[in-house]
Amino acid sequence: MTILVTGGAGYIGSHAVLTLKRQKKDVVIIDSLQTGHRGALDQDIPYYEGDLRDSEFLDHVFSAHKIDAVIHFAANSLVGESVTDPLKYYDNNVGGATSLLQAMNRHDVKKIVFSSTAATYGEPETDLIDENDPTIPTNPYGETKLAIEKMLKWAGGAYGLHSISLRYFNVAGADLDGEKGEDHNPETHLIPIVLQVALGQREKISVFGNDYPTPDGTCIRDYIHVQDLVDAHLLALEKLDKDPQTAVYNLGNGQGFSVMEVIEAARKVTGHDIPAAIEKRRAGDPAKLVASSARATKELGWKPNYPELERIIQTAWDWHRAHPEGYASTK
Ligand code: UDP
Repeated sequence: MTILVTGGAGYIGSHAVLTLKRQKKDVVIIDSLQTGHRGALDQDIPYYEGDLRDSEFLDHVFSAHKIDAVIHFAANSLVGESVTDPLKYYDNNVGGATSLLQAMNRHDVKKIVFSSTAATYGEPETDLIDENDPTIPTNPYGETKLAIEKMLKWAGGAYGLHSISLRYFNVAGADLDGEKGEDHNPETHLIPIVLQVALGQREKISVFGNDYPTPDGTCIRDYIHVQDLVDAHLLALEKLDKDPQTAVYNLGNGQGFSVMEVIEAARKVTGHDIPAAIEKRRAGDPAKLVASSARATKELGWKPNYPELERIIQTAWDWHRAHPEGYASTK
């Protein structure tokens, strides 16, 4: 069984590749290296550098390997950038996925696990979001992911393509053995930025708003360890083997932490003061996003193994300390 991982040089993709390798699965990687890192790639794993919108490139990869299933991570994923440059997101995310599904059709590949997002929900009305809640994205990033989910549904009916879309909440942390970690340029995510402050690479953390309707006024998010997230993808692949379907699952811990609580937890883990300054709200941030993952638990048999916030931050801290310049530290 050979699994094609798109975006295998990115944060979540590289952790997925590592887990598949540890399980002795055959893997092939596609990445354009627009945002992925050469240093995140593994010498032993076939890698093709190219763009998903290039159908000749995809034909080359699908002809060189007998692909059984695809895990599709490759996408642009910055909410703010998607607001200022929406066409980039429609072109790369929706265009890339369309081209990928067309190639899968040409090469008779019927199974795909898709990396979706809590941003499909927009500003939710419930405390614990489930998959039946309305999907009204508040930014183009979420819109493009939702458009791809819908494309997968229609493609399921039309071409017999089977898919599972996984709506990630806030993915964080690093490989427990320290082999991979999170490295974005620019970095926009809370936990790595807080750790950059602890490393002395930034003076302070800017807290984007403390006037939200939450107990301490800062936004609440549901942080999930990257390994738990990856494990869900493998369960999703097994599910598609046993029970072909089109489905959507939330992936989160069901517990929310405010921005201030995350900073406090990082202070404990790192032993650093981590100065924080309250600044104005960031556009497009919902006050609270916490997942019900009951469906994934019931139907995929998924349960997070590393739900504790301090443990999640500790794994990230271990990697960041060992790689202060990210993957550039390993070159
Ligand atoms: N956040 C912040 N300062 C930062 C980065 C993020 O206050 O420098 C807040 C952000 O407004 C949000 C939460 O931290 O409420 C998580 O943001 P992140 O970008 O990590 O993930 P998102 O929830 O946007 O996917």
